[in-house]
This record gives sequence, structure tokens and C-alpha cells, in this order.
Amino acid sequence: MFLSVFDMFKIGIGPSSSHTMGPMVAASRFLDHLRGLSFSVAGLRASLHGSLAFTGVGHATDRAVILGLAGFTPEDYDAARAEQVLAQITASGQIDAAGLGTLTFAPKTDLIFDYDTKLAGHANGLRLMATDRQGDVIAQEIYYSIGGGFVVTEGELTAPPRKSDADYPYPFETAAQMLAMARDSGKSIAAMKRANELATRSPVALDQGMRRIWQVMNDCIDRGMRAEGILPGGLQVRRRAAAIHAALEAERGLNMNAPHTINDWISVYAMAVNEENAAGGQVVTAPTNGAAGVVPATIRYWLDHVPGANEARVGEFLLTAAAIGGLVKHNASISGAECGCQAEVGSAAAMAAAGLAAVLGGTPEQVENAAEIALEHHLGMTCDPVKGLVQVPCIERNGLGAIKAISAASLALRGDGTHFMPLDNCIEAMRQTGADMSEKYKETALGGLAVNVPNC
Ligand code: SF4
Repeated sequence: MFLSVFDMFKIGIGPSSSHTMGPMVAASRFLDHLRGLSFSVAGLRASLHGSLAFTGVGHATDRAVILGLAGFTPEDYDAARAEQVLAQITASGQIDAAGLGTLTFAPKTDLIFDYDTKLAGHANGLRLMATDRQGDVIAQEIYYSIGGGFVVTEGELTAPPRKSDADYPYPFETAAQMLAMARDSGKSIAAMKRANELATRSPVALDQGMRRIWQVMNDCIDRGMRAEGILPGGLQVRRRAAAIHAALEAERGLNMNAPHTINDWISVYAMAVNEENAAGGQVVTAPTNGAAGVVPATIRYWLDHVPGANEARVGEFLLTAAAIGGLVKHNASISGAECGCQAEVGSAAAMAAAGLAAVLGGTPEQVENAAEIALEHHLGMTCDPVKGLVQVPCIERNGLGAIKAISAASLALRGDGTHFMPLDNCIEAMRQTGADMSEKYKETALGGLAVNVPNC
């Protein structure tokens, strides 16, 4: 089940890892597929299904697919060039696809939101098609965007993993196995995860990659705490992070702060990230875009407010958090469309709690306990974004997720790691709750807050 720290933390674009990043990656992969064919194609078509259809407009899924078909990728996304290319495609009804020539694609007719046909493999399905000069489909592939920017084809969904777990020194698939290996080896969770990462990359590549991840996270916080204005999408949601941050800075040193003001600092870091995400900016999936604020806010809280914190140990935080995120993804889900927000912000909080407990000196048992507390108190949380936009409740929710994560780490560190509910059982409870959850509450914007919007 090995999932790299770079699978759990991916640099990408907002507003959604499953509905924006994933479809863009799928379109880019489809172009690669077409380049490998022995015949040429003349046009492209796409259809969006399930949650991608219901909330695709709010999540800019249509833009992501078109730009992906034009060769854009989340990692090196250029916002200014994207606008030009979109305008060209809309005006001309054609896409210049590198290595494939100029292909017909009229966004209005060749990109279909199919609300009626749910594809069998996952709630987030898209079908990409290539046509000949007569408009007949001559090649197609179904992709599923399974959360956190992960994309699989229909065949890959059921295929066995390419690299065997035997190739990694600590091949844990459950928290119980992880703790047993930590006891036997005397290593921390981060040290075991690091050893697993080094099976496929050099220490320099690992450390540079993690530094880059933290740099993008931290830059995103800083950008979000400066930016003002109204977020796109039509809800007229005003960015708040900059004003809250300015007020917090003004209060510094005035000896007038209530102790709970620290919660505002934590929230403002998370909200800054999620406002950037909602604006389509560059973020790091952690483990998804919708939940991208929780881990960075918890790290920034630790660095800015906890004596003794040291940026050189952020890698240890990220490795621990990725170990927990991998367990959740492998045994349940990190997708709001699959299991509701408990799988997104809940998973992010579990990851952040574990990372914080680790850098504060927690034992593997205390780290596992921290993750369990954080996840347990997100169980049942639905995904009901208003208008399908990753704004309400998502932006504030990340702040509250980070606050819970920090409390969970703190509570766990006050014990000795023994506790009633194992993390594995909590992850299974999340999976079962997600399976039972009505589709209305799984990123379809058909229930909950999404249908209880005031008329103003
Ligand atoms: S409600 Fe939660 S799961 Fe749904 S889009 Fe927002 S952050 Fe993601």
C-alpha cells in the first residue's frame, strides 16, 4: 500500500484536488494515451459524471479538463496563459495538442455534464474521447478522480500495485502493524516512513522535495494573509484572512489578548490557504485541496507560537502526517465524494495531529492516539459545499480542523499512548459511515448547507 509523502502532499491548483486537479491530470494522461496510438485523431470530447457533473461548475472542472486537453498540468500551471488559451479554444473550437496537431473541440458541445449516468467505479468519473473527421468516437478512456489529485483508469482501479510491499523496509498497512514495527525497530513513525521513501529516491531528493512542499504551503499562507477582495463563483464571499491577520498583528504586545486568541491565529493560517484555494491559486493537497489548510496551519502554529520549534524538523512532521494519511486512504478514503468531509478535513486533522505530536516528542503510541482523537471527532461530517464551491463551509472548516488537530495532539501527549479506541477501528468507522451516508452529503451540493442558503 506504499503511498509516498509526495502522493499525500502534491503541489497543485485550487479549488479542488478531486474536481480540478484530478480531471486536469486525467486529460493530460489522455493526451499521452493518444500519442501512443498508431492512428491519428481529429477531435476531442469529454463527459463528466456523478459528483463531477453535479459540482463541476463550482469546482471549475470544465476549465480543468479543457486546459488539461490543451497540455496544462497542475504542477506548472500558469494562470495568465490559461486565460488566453481558454479564450482561444472557445473562439476557435479547436485545441492545439502537442504531438497530436490541431483537434476540434467546442467547449459548449464537446464537454457534457452528464447528470444521469453515474460511472460504476467511483463517484468522480469522466469519459474522455477522441473522434475521427466524421465525429465518430475512435478512442476513449474512463478516468476516476479518487481524491487528493489521484487519478486512475478503469483498469487501474482493480489492478494490483506495481511495486510490492516487500520492496519497502516497513510495509505497514494498518496502524497496529505500524506500532508493532515501531516497537520492534525502536524507530519513530517518521523514521520508518523515511526508510520507506528512500527505497525509491535519494535522501537529497527526499529532503529537497519536502522543503519545496513546505515552501509552497508557507508561501500560500503568506499570500492568503495579504490578499483581499471577493472570491470567484458568485457567492460574494469576501476574503477575511488579511483583515483578521492585520487585527491580530495590531494586538500583538498590547497585553489585552484573551488566551483563546491563539485559535484566531490558527484559523487565519488555515483560512488564508483555503481562500487562496478557492481563488484557484497554488496550494499543496494535504491530503486534498478542500482540506489543504489544516496541515500548513498546524505547522505554522508550531513554528510561530511554540517555543523550541525548528523549521529543520518540518520534514519529520510531513513524514508522520503522510504515514497517517496513507493509512486512511488505504483503509477508507480521503475523498469527500466518497465518504463526506470526515474523509477530507477529518483525515487532514488526523494527519496534522500526528505530525504535531511527533515533533513535540510524542512516542509512536501517542502519535497514533493523537491521530485517532482528531479523526474520531470528525466522524459523520458531511460534504455539502454551497453552490459546489469550495468556500462555505470549507474555508472556516479548515481553521476548526486545525484547532481540533492541535487539541488532539495536546491531549494525546498528556497520556501515555494507551487509549480505548484504536486508530484502525476509527478509520473503519469512518469508512462504514461514509458508505452509509446519503449521496446528498457527498460533494453533490444536493443537501445540507448547500440547500439551506438564505435568500438575500
Ligand atoms: S465540505 Fe469538506 S469535503 Fe466538501 S468540498 Fe468542503 S472541505 Fe471538501
